[in-house]
Amino acid sequence: MSFSYITQALATRRAEGLFRQRVLVEHACASRITIAGEQYLNFASNDYLGLATKLDATQLVSIEAGSRSSALVTGYLSVHQQLERQLCGALGYEAALLFPSGFAANTSTLKALFTSGEKQFSAAVFQDKLNHASLIDGGLAGNAKFVRFNHNDLNHLRSRLEKTKANNKLIVTEGVFSMDGDTAPIVEISKLAQSHSSWLMVDDAHAFGVIGENGLGTVDTGIRPEILVVTFGKAMGCQGAAVLASRQVIEYLVQFNREFVYTTALSPIMASVALHQLNRLLLATEPRDKLSRNIAYFKKLISATKLSTIPSDTAIQPLVFGTSENVIAAQNKLKQKGIWVGAIRPPTVPQNTARLRITITAEHSTQDIEYLVSALVEVS
Ligand code: PMP
Repeated sequence: MSFSYITQALATRRAEGLFRQRVLVEHACASRITIAGEQYLNFASNDYLGLATKLDATQLVSIEAGSRSSALVTGYLSVHQQLERQLCGALGYEAALLFPSGFAANTSTLKALFTSGEKQFSAAVFQDKLNHASLIDGGLAGNAKFVRFNHNDLNHLRSRLEKTKANNKLIVTEGVFSMDGDTAPIVEISKLAQSHSSWLMVDDAHAFGVIGENGLGTVDTGIRPEILVVTFGKAMGCQGAAVLASRQVIEYLVQFNREFVYTTALSPIMASVALHQLNRLLLATEPRDKLSRNIAYFKKLISATKLSTIPSDTAIQPLVFGTSENVIAAQNKLKQKGIWVGAIRPPTVPQNTARLRITITAEHSTQDIEYLVSALVEVS
C-alpha cells in the first residue's frame, strides 16, 4: 500500500515514547505562560530579554502585510534595506541578506555555497557534532565532503582539517549551542580556520542580543566570521533571519541561493518589527544585566544542591535526565507545581541525554528562580 510507512513511522515514534505534539498556548510572555486555562512559570522561552512583548506599534515604518514578490522581482523594499544596513552597522559587515527564518537562512546558504559548476571543485564542510539541524541539512545538501568534529573539540577539529584535502574549507559552529547552552571557543576556532585556509561560519541564533560586552554575540569576541547568521526569533523576539558577509559573498548568494531567489521577500510589517526590535535589542543594556544576574543566581542556587546542569554561562541551562521516560516524568511533575519547562529528547539530542532545557530570562524574578530550583530538587 502506498505511503504505509507513514502509519509505521507514527507507530514507532509512539512506541519509543518519542511522539512529538504541539501545545496550544493561550497566552505567554517571557516568564509566564497559560495553557488549558492554567498559568505556569515559563522556563521554556527563547525570549531571553523579554522583547517579544511591549512592541511600540507606532514606531513601525511599514504596516504593509505583503511584499508581493521575491526580492529579485519587486519584493525588496526600503524597510528591508534599512534593516540590512542597521544589522551591518551594528555587527560590522559589508552586506546582509534577509530570510524568513533562521532555518531557511542556514540550509539554503550552505547549499548555495557548495554548489559550483567548477570542474575541479573540491570542498569540505566541518561541522560541530551538536550543530543545529538546519546547519546539518544545509551541509549535507551541497557538493562538499561532510565532516563532523566532536563538540567544541579543537584537537579533533585540527586533525580533521589536517586529514581532509579540499580546496575550499568551511568550519561551521554555533555561537551558543541551542540544546547545551555552552559557547563555542570562537577565538581558537578562528585561529584554526586561518591556519588551515578555512572560512568560518557562525550561527549566532542564541548568542545575538545576549552574549558579549555589547550583547552582539560572536563579534564581541573580536572575531568576524566570513559568514554570520543572526536570527530574529530569539532575543529579538520576532521572526526572520539575516546572513552577514562580504559584499561579494552576499552578491553570490543573491545569484545562487535558491531559497532567496524563489521565496517571497520577508513581509514588510515583519521587517519593520525586526528593525524596531533590533533597535530595542541594541539598547537593552538593563535587561541584559538582569539576565546575567538571573543566570548567576540560578547557577549559585543549583550549585548548593546535588543537581548538576550541563556547564553553561548562558540563558540555556540544561538538566540531563538520561531516558525520555525520566525527563517526561520530571516535566509532568514540574507542571503540577506550576512550572513549564521544555523536555528535549532524541533525536533532537543524542541518545540517553534527554533533558530539561531550562531557559532563564530577564523577566524572571529572584522568587521565580528560587521556586524553580526548589521544585527541580523535588522532582529529580
Ligand atoms: N539555529 C539555531 C541554533 C536554532 O536554535 C534555531 C531555532 N531553533 C535556528 C537556527 C532556526 O531559526 P528560526 O527559528 O529562525 O528558523
